[in-house]
Amino acid sequence: MNDSFKALHQLFYNKTKISKNELFILFDEVGIPKENCWRTIYRMIFDVRINSNPNLNQRIPRAFLEPVAIRALENIKNKDFSETAIFNLIKDYHSASSATCEDRLKVVVDELYELTNEFKSMTMEKQENIKTLESETVILIESDLNIDDKIKLIKSKFKKTMDLFKTDLIRLGQMSNTDHLTGLYNRRFFDEQLDIEASQSIKEKTCLNLLMIDIDDFKQFNDQYGHPIGDQALRIVSKNIQIICDDELSSNGIFFFPVRYGGEEFAVILPVVDINEAFKIAETIRKKISSYSFVVRDKKGGIKHHNLNLTVSIGLAMLDHRQTQANGIKALIENADAAMYDAKRAGKNCVKIRVE
Ligand code: GH3
Ligand code: MG
Ligand code: MG
Repeated sequence: MNDSFKALHQLFYNKTKISKNELFILFDEVGIPKENCWRTIYRMIFDVRINSNPNLNQRIPRAFLEPVAIRALENIKNKDFSETAIFNLIKDYHSASSATCEDRLKVVVDELYELTNEFKSMTMEKQENIKTLESETVILIESDLNIDDKIKLIKSKFKKTMDLFKTDLIRLGQMSNTDHLTGLYNRRFFDEQLDIEASQSIKEKTCLNLLMIDIDDFKQFNDQYGHPIGDQALRIVSKNIQIICDDELSSNGIFFFPVRYGGEEFAVILPVVDINEAFKIAETIRKKISSYSFVVRDKKGGIKHHNLNLTVSIGLAMLDHRQTQANGIKALIENADAAMYDAKRAGKNCVKIRVE
């Protein structure tokens, strides 16, 4: 391996940042042909892998790009710059970039990994509880207490440990349904709950509405203020949606389900209320978010940015009872999504409805 190849190899695995020019110098040194097709495809692969560009990474998760990049490194090492080699790289790059299904699968696997770790640490904690229960039970059995008192005390110790397990189970259940950044329900919960609500709505002949909410120009917001402040903004938008759902529960006793549907997209499942009421709720959410201006503070509490504002575009749709449950749910999501894009096209910061 020559030194330039080693440098490229290292850059690829160490995620070191590198400028486009530096990358091109390395390309020259390892002998990548100067034609644009070669430069473009290699730059796309290395750029995403090396420069940690959050937007690119979101679209093409590293895990999917890895095999393409390994193949690219192999080609460079073997000096294989044939037409077939570039054709295969482009083909693989495209299939990596359109891997939406795999994308979701990876998110689920990551979530499961987090859950497993949490579960492991809970189990370790519980091992201690069980050891204590064991030794306390032995002490009680060997004590001078009468048999009735012994049984009563042992029972209460067991109950205490069982209660700890129950609390853990509840916590695990909540974790698997919650989006960790915003605290809203996650996509897994959404799929399950929408099924439940649709079946209820068909059975009881009540309305079921869905809101799809997308933050306007959020890429620009991230570019201007940085990703961590973008995350903070996502939490603020979520909090505002949550507050309106909580208000509805306390004033009308109806459960609405606010969900983080994807990156900067949210959904709210609105059972029971009719479409006019759902529209009013969507408007309340939209107005609350657009009129909310927030400040960003530095670590010492000083104001870094003030009067930051965001707006959202909202799509609203209602379940069509004439369809089967599965088709109805599919159409409900598609219509709410399409209505949200109508709102974008209408100039953003508005609510649009799509009905069958
Ligand atoms: P539009 O008004 O058409 O919706 O434009 P947009 O810029 O909001 O839409 P686009 O889909 O181009 O950009 C969405 C952005 O949301 C890009 C991505 O970086 C950002 N984003 C997605 N998830 C997160 C996240 O978890 N944190 C942060 N900070 N940004 C995120
Ligand atoms: Mg979006
Ligand atoms: Mg957006």
